[in-house]
Amino acid sequence: MYPRLCIDLGRLQHNAKSLLQLASPRGISIWGVTKVLCGAPAVGEALRAAGITTLADSRLDNLRKLPTAEKVLLRLPDPHQAESVVRYADWSLNSELTTLQALSQAAIAAGKRHKVLLMVDVGDLREGLWPDEVIPFVRQALGLPGIQIGGLGTNVTCYGGVLPDPTNLGVLVELATELKRLGLVECEVISGGNSSSLELLQQGKIPRGINNLRLGESIILGQETIARRPLPGLFTDAVMLQAVAIEVKEKPSLPIGTIGQDAFGNSPEFVDLGVRRRVILALGRQDVRLDGLLPLEPGVRVLGASSDHLLLDTSDYPEDVRVGQVFSFGLDYGALLAASTSPYVVKEFRKGGN
Ligand SMILES: *Cc1c(COP(=O)(O)O)cnc(C)c1O
Repeated sequence: MYPRLCIDLGRLQHNAKSLLQLASPRGISIWGVTKVLCGAPAVGEALRAAGITTLADSRLDNLRKLPTAEKVLLRLPDPHQAESVVRYADWSLNSELTTLQALSQAAIAAGKRHKVLLMVDVGDLREGLWPDEVIPFVRQALGLPGIQIGGLGTNVTCYGGVLPDPTNLGVLVELATELKRLGLVECEVISGGNSSSLELLQQGKIPRGINNLRLGESIILGQETIARRPLPGLFTDAVMLQAVAIEVKEKPSLPIGTIGQDAFGNSPEFVDLGVRRRVILALGRQDVRLDGLLPLEPGVRVLGASSDHLLLDTSDYPEDVRVGQVFSFGLDYGALLAASTSPYVVKEFRKGGN
């Protein structure tokens, strides 16, 4: 069945293991982030097999499905769901006292202790307390039974595109030191960001004291996320998308007639390259994001797509193309997210490896 998202579990396992080997000698643990593959249990198993003991996801539905492990809810909890949060997650990321109060009550009712990673906004302007709010916030949170402040974390390169650096990550370490000095909290985890922090890690520039990273894209796509450079020794092709040719015809590259708007309200422009061999794939915007598709066969170019049809120019492809032929694509994060969350795309997990 196509379109099909092929996920090579052996390669994911290899990537996770390589990242552990990079991080462990520097005293940094890894939380394995599964959200872009919708918390697929097979992916969780592969990360566990690589030696990752904590799995993190943005959605409770995904955490529930994942195999047994220490589990972290990455998105700030909805206070209405406090009961499910303490049931399915050992940790959650937090920045609101109202939510902590709800989690506290839910934890007591469940007879559990729920750990909290307090998020600090060091400038990216997504989630988190402003640094000078942290100590007063912790003083209040310490009065709540059933929850434990397990540490501090920050998230960068998400909304504002702010890069992690020794200064902004240093803010976390200073706050953790201050919390300890005041006798308030001994942080178990000081989490210095996501896959965008790997470049600092490789350069040995992560401030001492940071002892955790939360990694998703680097495990799955084998790249860091500042310049999107491949990480040495990691597979960048652990996931690929496949779709089937449903029409193969020679057609002119310029449409014939007056050009108005396309199916999505854009006014397209065309360059006349003469008659080209065009292929229609049974794939469209309901399945994937066009921009992030990278054809894996040589001489294949993506021309465009509507909801259900993807047009290729295969004039430079060295062989004949037949109806029914399968074409393969690499994906960037956005395209992978779309394919992974599309109910029309079949997910195939392969044992794989090298
Ligand atoms: C998604 C997410 C991550 C993982 O980010 P990657 O860039 O995929 O490594 C880490 N932390 C939080 C809070 C997230 O939402």
